[in-house]
Amino acid sequence: MKAIATIKLKLPNNNVFLETMKQYSYSANKVIDFGWNIKTYSKRELHDLTYHKIREETQLPAQLVCSSRDRAFEVLKACKFQKSKPIMKEYLTIRYDSRSFSFRSNKNNYYISLTTINGRIKFPVEIPECYWKYLDYKVCSADLILDKKERLFLNIVMSRSIKILNSNNIVGVDLGINNIAVTSQKQFFNSSQIKLKKLKFKHLKAKLQAKGTKSAKKLLKKISGREKRFMTWVNHNISKSIINKVEEGTIVLEELKGIRKSKVRKKQRFWLHSWSFYQLQRFIEYKAVRGGIKIIKVNPRNTSKICNSCGNLGSRCKSFFTCSHCGYSLNADLNASFNLAKHTSISDCVSAEVIPPFLTCDTKA
Ligand SMILES: [Zn+2]
Repeated sequence: MKAIATIKLKLPNNNVFLETMKQYSYSANKVIDFGWNIKTYSKRELHDLTYHKIREETQLPAQLVCSSRDRAFEVLKACKFQKSKPIMKEYLTIRYDSRSFSFRSNKNNYYISLTTINGRIKFPVEIPECYWKYLDYKVCSADLILDKKERLFLNIVMSRSIKILNSNNIVGVDLGINNIAVTSQKQFFNSSQIKLKKLKFKHLKAKLQAKGTKSAKKLLKKISGREKRFMTWVNHNISKSIINKVEEGTIVLEELKGIRKSKVRKKQRFWLHSWSFYQLQRFIEYKAVRGGIKIIKVNPRNTSKICNSCGNLGSRCKSFFTCSHCGYSLNADLNASFNLAKHTSISDCVSAEVIPPFLTCDTKA
């Protein structure tokens, strides 16, 4: 299996980079113009029609002309049935590959080299400590991005083949509302503190929404961002703690499709909708892959209703599960996690999709 990590570096604002992005965008728009007008979706044809023209009109080197053409081609294809012509933004994210960029080290110093309108520019970078563990990964590609606050970032995508270790250790992870996560290794992640914090955010947001002034809206946006970062932080911590305890083997997760519909009482709907279960699952997945742990996802049907001891249907009263057939009783979420751990027959498994992580950690510019 392949583990992917993204190293995000803040670059000092540099006019050459900005001008390169601008010309890259010009080039992509030119390709879109041609493709859109004559309705061609052939990469070869688009190349023949635009390449020399763009080389004459811009200072972009060949690799970046081709890279911008590829980006334009993808947009054209995606917008095939759209009524209006797509337009690329002024400072378009540049996609670099191994021919147009490099990331190398020399005696613990790291250097980036990027192709620009002024040729290759090489400069030293400082790698934040949180990324050191990925420095032995293979360098794949990089994106040069100008964000909304007009800061320049280089996102370097690194990958490494990970060998899944064979082990009989199977751990079920049940996600829910009273406990964000419960594992069959008896790890409980209670949500009460987090719920309190989220309620505070909810009241504050409702107050600001009612106010409706310009400054209130601005503050609302800021608070929403703060809440999102808080949840991401919570999910990182929970996933890290789960992976550290599992160490090796297989983690069984529920297929989340439909979680918002199932097992919802009206009172719980707010929590269910405001929770970022998908993010938590994604974090568990990518951290597992990096640690050589296998992930499988199963249909969660009945995992909370069946007794993990005898397999009969039991009953749930608040957070407690009781089985009238064998008399077994325990925490309902723990019962569900035990069931998930047992739930590994291939027919029920849905292959896990591993989504690359997105770490945010900035260097000092
Ligand atoms: Zn039972």
